[in-house]
Amino acid sequence: MSKSSAAYRPETRLVHSGTLRSQYGETSEALFLTQGYVYASAEECEARFKGEDPGFIYSRYSNPTIAMFERRMIELEGAEAARSAATGMAAVTTAILAPLKAGDHVVASRALFGSCLYVIQDLLPRYGIEATLVDGLDLDQWQRALKPNTKTFFLESPTNPTLDVLDIPSIAEIAHKGGARLVVDNVFATPIWQSPLALGADVVVYSATKHIDGQGRCLGGIILSSEAFIAEHIHNFMRQTGPSISPFNAWVLLKGLETLGVRVRAQTDTAARIAEVLARHPKISRLVYPGRADHPQAALVKKQMRGGSTLVGFEVKGGKAAAFRVLNELKLAKISNNLGDAKSLVTHPATTTHQRLKPEDRAALGISEGFIRFSAGLEHADDLIEDLTAALEKA
Ligand SMILES: *Cc1c(COP(=O)(O)O)cnc(C)c1O
Repeated sequence: MSKSSAAYRPETRLVHSGTLRSQYGETSEALFLTQGYVYASAEECEARFKGEDPGFIYSRYSNPTIAMFERRMIELEGAEAARSAATGMAAVTTAILAPLKAGDHVVASRALFGSCLYVIQDLLPRYGIEATLVDGLDLDQWQRALKPNTKTFFLESPTNPTLDVLDIPSIAEIAHKGGARLVVDNVFATPIWQSPLALGADVVVYSATKHIDGQGRCLGGIILSSEAFIAEHIHNFMRQTGPSISPFNAWVLLKGLETLGVRVRAQTDTAARIAEVLARHPKISRLVYPGRADHPQAALVKKQMRGGSTLVGFEVKGGKAAAFRVLNELKLAKISNNLGDAKSLVTHPATTTHQRLKPEDRAALGISEGFIRFSAGLEHADDLIEDLTAALEKA
């Protein structure tokens, strides 16, 4: 692109940003399946190792296809730098663990993706890093959890699976006043609807496995932040420990970005229509959808998000038995623990993603036995609504 891609709107950046065209002038981004690189001379090789020549060295550190994926995400997110990883969890674990040492303290919102909760609650303490879990909706709890050794605040918003929306600017301010950084897992919001860095967060992480691929093919993750954070904390950690993404997966995700905007918009429109139908349904006792006026943090959604969600949460009257009947009766929407796919997916969090939790902890998070998470796909909204209402008849 001739003008700086920051001058273009997000839809344009999703298609063009970061493209590195080879000498063959290919239209589509090239897939560089190579482990290493060869050098024209020993002098060039030396210069590259000294960092005086910007070329590639080894695909554990960098690769042209991976660089294209990272650059496109950087320009979409408005970050200065990024490093991609093999999975979303590799990105989350690295973003949290790499900057910390024994004696540090982390504060995180309790409503987390199961593996993120494991990293905070089980893994960190084994290495002498203290962790405090708070109710992320309660700003006083974030404030009171701060200690002189607090280095990181971590949250997801909207939360999984109850789709609560946390106040990112206020939590960032509390973190910064206490000398800590805020890391946001932005998977549920997607880069289309929420930009945590612009809201005051210091680091954003994604499981690219979800909406960024969006077609159920491969795993991936990415960490985005300032150049200084990546250089100081992430670059060397990833280079030496190697949670690297495959160039093939980076290529799939790069091509996924081209259609991310249209997919997320279509899936969000469908989710909103499903929410509208469920809100009036006699067999539903609770409905949560960010973007509706009846969402518990509706004002906050308006302030910090540009759109709703591709996910809908709802509680079926009759507990687990009724929820299971709905899942088993659905013909189109598939039972899965995944989300953000072109295919609509339904999850029963209490027996899958959150079954590790104690019943009282699940209850505190609002995950009842009748709660279902619905990830809207790209099917026609009317077909999905007919599928859901037919299944609810049987509940
Ligand atoms: C899926 C998910 C992850 C983990 O991503 P993987 O690619 O499966 O490792 C982390 N956070 C959230 C919110 C997720 O939905």
